[in-house]
Amino acid sequence: MNIKINDNFNNIRESYLFSYINKRVNEYKKNHPNAKIIRLGIGDVTLPLPKLIVDALVKASNEMGVKDTFRGYPPEYGYDFIKEAVVKYYKNINVSLDLDSVFISDGAKSDLGNIVDILGDNDIYIPNPVYPVYVDSNLMSGRKIHYLNGNEANNFLPLPSGLDNNPKVIYLCSPNNPTGATYNYDELKSWVDYAYKTGSLIIFDSAYEAFITDDSPRSIYKIEHAKEVAIEVSSLSKMAGFTGVRCGYTIVPLELTSCDKSVNKLWKRRQATKFNGVSYPVQRAAEAALSDKGIKECMDNINYYMENARMLSEFFDEKGIFYTGGKSSPYIWFKCPNGMNSWDFFDYLLQNANVVGTPGAGFGTFGEGYFRITSFNTHEKTKEAINRLRKLL
Ligand code: PLP
Repeated sequence: MNIKINDNFNNIRESYLFSYINKRVNEYKKNHPNAKIIRLGIGDVTLPLPKLIVDALVKASNEMGVKDTFRGYPPEYGYDFIKEAVVKYYKNINVSLDLDSVFISDGAKSDLGNIVDILGDNDIYIPNPVYPVYVDSNLMSGRKIHYLNGNEANNFLPLPSGLDNNPKVIYLCSPNNPTGATYNYDELKSWVDYAYKTGSLIIFDSAYEAFITDDSPRSIYKIEHAKEVAIEVSSLSKMAGFTGVRCGYTIVPLELTSCDKSVNKLWKRRQATKFNGVSYPVQRAAEAALSDKGIKECMDNINYYMENARMLSEFFDEKGIFYTGGKSSPYIWFKCPNGMNSWDFFDYLLQNANVVGTPGAGFGTFGEGYFRITSFNTHEKTKEAINRLRKLL
């Protein structure tokens, strides 16, 4: 008992939100074995991979079994073929990227969690509510966090107005998980302008960019000067259904000027030391997903989910209940009825409609009183859930 652990782990919540939800649902099921539960809490994709992606996985796996085409350790930053595919993917939205700024990873969560390795002791600003990895990874390394509060007045899209002019590290997520709220061009520009003026660094999470249906920026690099102030972390998890395949990418521009050293060089060094790269078959599958045909097939799946999001949004519009998301996001974030807190509403919904969602409080204090449901279930189950909600709300 002499070895000290990292005390910072005392500052993070012990139980992971979704294991706790599953526990509550399983308890309910045990007492109500006939309940037909519909899960709208799912933050994971449910449709199978498009065939061309599976074919690419199989083909590349077979290459690994042949002497002439076998490959050992992959490059830590990704093979050129997949980095080129990412560069082309950005070209489709008129963003030009340097090949050396692209780092292939096993997903956005790893990079968002690991980026703290190369940052010193800075002021950290994180939206509240938001995807919990930004908060937990900063707490694990002992950083003090300031929150950018989301609320109905700002439509859960906090802006820089009111912040001091000291340089800071700012996390942004658009489209946001859990609120689905998406920054438009002017709003995102106000963040980039602020970072440029104050010498701040933005860590921009665009994991849900493929769900954007209007002209909101799908990359922060659509904004002038963003390459000087922002790192972008993204993923094929939601775009191509890769949550179980694992592939993402992070853009660390060579032009970045916010930091006192080259972040691109440091990230290279960090990845070369602690990361072994993504397996060859997975990188070939990702290449297939980012091909013109692959994008089209992935978009068919996204459009399926977005039809659910449309039905859910239509229901909340009809009821006049405040919500964000649903338009450029698989998430719908709505206000709990009658001032209920979000865990009470979770139980109320589970018991009276047998529908499972995610309490907003699980994503930050400013999520209290709100609730997240998702569009990753089937059309049939989503319709049925809406019928049940109609009777309750
Ligand atoms: N960023 C956000 C906002 C997410 O919601 C998620 C996953 O749900 C991730 C990143 C992680 O994605 P990945 O599967 O690429 O690790």
